[in-house]
Amino acid sequence: MYDELCGFEGKAAAVGGRGKDPVNEPMIRHWCEAMGDTSPAYSGPDAIAPPTMLQAWTMGGLSGHADGTGRATAYDELLALLDGAGYTSVVATDCEQEYRRPLRPGDAVTFDAVIESVSPRKTTRLGTGHFVTTRMDIRAGADGELAGTHRFRILKYAPAPAAVAASASTSPAAVPRERVPDRPTARRPRPVVNRDNRGFWDGIAEHRLLIQRCTGCGTLRFPWLPGCNACASPDWDTVEASGSGTVFSYVVMHHPPFPAFDPPYAVALVELAEGVRMVSNVTGVPYDEVRIGMPVQLEFLRCDEELELPVFRADEPQGSER
Ligand code: ZN
Repeated sequence: MYDELCGFEGKAAAVGGRGKDPVNEPMIRHWCEAMGDTSPAYSGPDAIAPPTMLQAWTMGGLSGHADGTGRATAYDELLALLDGAGYTSVVATDCEQEYRRPLRPGDAVTFDAVIESVSPRKTTRLGTGHFVTTRMDIRAGADGELAGTHRFRILKYAPAPAAVAASASTSPAAVPRERVPDRPTARRPRPVVNRDNRGFWDGIAEHRLLIQRCTGCGTLRFPWLPGCNACASPDWDTVEASGSGTVFSYVVMHHPPFPAFDPPYAVALVELAEGVRMVSNVTGVPYDEVRIGMPVQLEFLRCDEELELPVFRADEPQGSER
């Protein structure tokens, strides 16, 4: 098997790839904002792209590269061979980059990648498998000058039995659902109760949803905080929420799986009648029937002997509106 894997070393993983966009200022700006990088080198008339953006210029995005640009079959064949041998899970382990020349707005980017090495069989905490390293050469400009290289390493592995539950989502094929321990087995996370929010949890114990109100300016606030965002006063009292609200927004959680939660489930941002919003669960309807604007009513969910949470029950079945 290992000899066969080594036969892939030196074969192409991508040939003749072309970046979807030339190096450009908007992508640089978004990257810098996301990274919190305020270096002056990345803006202005002499801007260069952050070197660590190297791979970003080669990415195909959700839609991939049109007309198969950059595709080569050897890498797919190697992964299929590993899948067939039972190494069906994959995790990215590390990457190394070398920078030869800066990329600047306007540079068109091309790239090729090669399967650089396949490791002997290794056993890690995740499981046993092979590390696969690819090296991508990224070139820029009309002369195709080498701008940098990007080495990317993955571990293709068969999950260790103890890791099966934790990595259940990495590859459905590797982990038949019936092998996943019955869910949920764990208890929901405990809230962190401190002097700033103890009043809230005391209220929950009495089945009262309490909203903080600034006694300086009357502004309501949620979640509980030590001071008023509107006037900075540290003084407050509470008002009890009526319990009526509407779904202001929501997400449906599929991944990652957490112990004590059974995905998919909806997590809603509920706007209370009093105007503040809180994150909670919507009960009484399936996760895929939660809708923005849906009226909901407070109720209390007994999770276990020591934890009770405020949740919101959908007021009426949605029925034919779907
Ligand atoms: Zn205030």
